[in-house]
Amino acid sequence: MRSAGAGGSQNGVPVPGGVYLCQVNEMVSCGACCGLYNVADASRPALEAMLARRTTRFSRLPRQMEAILAFGEQTAAVEGQPRPYPDFHHCPYLGLIGEGRTRVGCLLHPLAAGNQGVDFRGLSEYGGMACRIYFCPSTRRLPGRYKAILRICFDNWYDYGLVVTERHLVAALLAEVERCLGQPLDPGALVRRPAQAAALGALLAIKRDWPFRHPSTGHLCHDLFRDDGGQRGPAGIEAQDFHTIVFRALESHLETAERLAAARAEVDRRLAAAVRALSP
Ligand code: SF4
Ligand code: SF4
Repeated sequence: MRSAGAGGSQNGVPVPGGVYLCQVNEMVSCGACCGLYNVADASRPALEAMLARRTTRFSRLPRQMEAILAFGEQTAAVEGQPRPYPDFHHCPYLGLIGEGRTRVGCLLHPLAAGNQGVDFRGLSEYGGMACRIYFCPSTRRLPGRYKAILRICFDNWYDYGLVVTERHLVAALLAEVERCLGQPLDPGALVRRPAQAAALGALLAIKRDWPFRHPSTGHLCHDLFRDDGGQRGPAGIEAQDFHTIVFRALESHLETAERLAAARAEVDRRLAAAVRALSP
């Protein structure tokens, strides 16, 4: 995971479904399963500042085991933030990678700046093997065309990583767009029509902007990589129609008829905008 490469395999390990989601291009990548968003302040400016600080500190570090381990401990101690999900990891070796440090990635990866091909991921809490071969439920379970669409409809790592792990949300929204259009989405055609791809990105970014989040979820809701097919979300919402799946994935708080109606209207408004942009 979080390799600096791209394509249908990673470190020689075939990517499930042949579509690689962890690294996409110079601007778009994901660090969600390394715990990227599991911080008290998961806003984009806060994450950018945190990753930039780490990256600068790490760039000055001798690539020696003791120094790297000390970096991890110091980072955890200095940042010391309470985690929204205390039982879920947040890796101190997440930083910014690429020539212009334009996307999130692993500072311990052999292709990261300064590592000269040496894989230091074995020094992380997950251990090198887990870091190399793990694939999240989205990678393993989303249909290939939806994964291909995810790769082309975002222009920045922050929004992409927030959404890419939300397989129930992604599948529900894209299937509904297809239902409205009366045909499957074609990733190849979307590559040639960036405005249409961006319209899908704006729809999927509903997770970032959702105004009906449950008050106990004082942070951006966050998929915890359950692989049992279940969905998180408040009890009491039981039907599995399109809106319900979306509401659950967004950990919504819809305790009144007015709020429920407003939430439905918000989803429908965003959906209609995407369908309009994609209609012939
Ligand atoms: S959450 Fe999925 S897409 Fe993101 S880095 Fe992990 S395995 Fe890759
Ligand atoms: S060491 Fe592993 S968990 Fe940490 S950032 Fe790298 S890939 Fe993610």
